[in-house]
Amino acid sequence: MAPSIMWFRRDLRLADHPALHDAVRAGGRDGVIPVFILDDALLAPSGPTRARFLAACLAELERSMDAALVLRSGDPARELATLAAEVGASTVVISDDFAPQGRRRDQVVAEHLAEAGVELVRRSSPYAVDPGTVRGDKGNAIKVFSAFWRRWEAIGPHVVLPVPAVRWRAAPSTATLDDLVARAGRLRPALFGDLPDEMEGALPAAGERAALLALEHFVEGPIEGYANDRDVFALPATSRLSPHLRFGTLHPRTALRAAGGGGKGAAKFSSELCWREFYADVLFHNPQSVREPLQAQFRHLPWDEGPAAEAAFRTWALGRTGIPLVDAAMRQLLIDGWMHNRARMLAASFLVKHLHLDWRWGARWFMWRLVDGDLASNTHGWQWTAGCGTDAAPFYRIFSPIAQAERFDPNADYIHTYVPELSGISAPAVLQPGGGVDLLSQASYPVPMVDLKAERAEALRRLDVAKAANQAAP
Ligand SMILES: Cc1cc2nc3c(=O)[nH]c(=O)nc-3n(C[C@H](O)[C@H](O)[C@H](O)COP(=O)(O)OP(=O)(O)OC[C@H]3O[C@@H](n4cnc5c(N)ncnc54)[C@H](O)[C@@H]3O)c2cc1C
Repeated sequence: MAPSIMWFRRDLRLADHPALHDAVRAGGRDGVIPVFILDDALLAPSGPTRARFLAACLAELERSMDAALVLRSGDPARELATLAAEVGASTVVISDDFAPQGRRRDQVVAEHLAEAGVELVRRSSPYAVDPGTVRGDKGNAIKVFSAFWRRWEAIGPHVVLPVPAVRWRAAPSTATLDDLVARAGRLRPALFGDLPDEMEGALPAAGERAALLALEHFVEGPIEGYANDRDVFALPATSRLSPHLRFGTLHPRTALRAAGGGGKGAAKFSSELCWREFYADVLFHNPQSVREPLQAQFRHLPWDEGPAAEAAFRTWALGRTGIPLVDAAMRQLLIDGWMHNRARMLAASFLVKHLHLDWRWGARWFMWRLVDGDLASNTHGWQWTAGCGTDAAPFYRIFSPIAQAERFDPNADYIHTYVPELSGISAPAVLQPGGGVDLLSQASYPVPMVDLKAERAEALRRLDVAKAANQAAP
């Protein structure tokens, strides 16, 4: 027998890890060589915050395996073939990747390894149900969440595997976690100009142990009120598990099992996890949707472009729009590297429908800054909000920052937390555009950059333009 290689990617944990069990079986008495590869194709477009979080997750993973984790840097196909030759391995095991770039890469890796007589074994994925599995009656991809949810829910219960006994085998590393952080962020879009890159607050606790503690905290407390409270911006009512799910320090199977079947909160939580799986499925069937709207008619929607549009984009990104709830949302992203779900919807809606800027600009900024930045959830969260994606969220349903604040931040707790210069002004005045600041007071808070009503009307006019262009198109 020869040792097997476990290539870690978005599965940085030891528990509930089917691929690791396969690696243990394949390696037998010769053990498992754990490896992570610093791949520029993935690191270069990632903002520095997420890269630092990834490095922290890897440091925790390494600790949990007696420092055996091997770090290599370069083209994964070449690096894995080299490592396999060095240690005499004939099997490399992975948790499967269903995102467009990952699928292409794994195909190349599989072919390259096969030429060297090494088998690439794929097992499980970052999802409870692999993308592409849930289908309609005719084997079709499902385009509507509610239909997907019914079929997804019927699959299971999911088996949660324990941590296996692993005989870890070491091999030389040729890279460090500092290299990882240094290599990140090289493909910074020019659009970002002098926007800040680093988050102001602290990174969330990283690694499998932190993920399990966060899950335990959530299921012992907030899950009870989750269905009612999850939309209230200022409440710590949601799980904050997204960064852990992003890097696989926690698998959704474990989260689903811990949440249990009963109760309104658990049911809602499970349906939110299903949104993540739905969007991965949509991306699997529509890899072009990273660049193109799912609904063809939106290809003709006119966006603002040029220096003034780019300046407006940066004002939005800095949380200096003069619309308090939008600014609170955008500053939460700058400070925490995370944003409340409803705040993401509101901030995205404002960019697209009040500033008339391309949703892809906003999606890029979110992906740059979010610790939980995930291609499928982000792309389709943006497309949903921009009205051009899945489901029944029509373009003309435009989020009102005032109504959202009145409903979900009535005492302005969220606004006051992230926009401290408005802390002296109470609700309801502070919920309004301009934050109730007396224009003569020379306060540092900006005047509203747009008139909400006028720009709402303008968005609807542009929708008509898009529809007409679509009808005229051959
Ligand atoms: C414009 C936009 C961009 C987004 N970008 C991302 C992203 O890059 N990465 C990301 O993980 N989520 C993204 N989301 C979804 C959602 O906002 C976050 O998953 C959620 O806020 C994370 O907080 P939480 O872990 O406390 O969520 P909880 O409310 O506790 O939900 C539990 C888990 O369910 C999943 N989930 C919840 N809501 C959604 C949703 N609407 N879509 C997909 N999955 C969901 C997440 O994995 C989350 O961790 C985006 C949403 C929008 C509207």
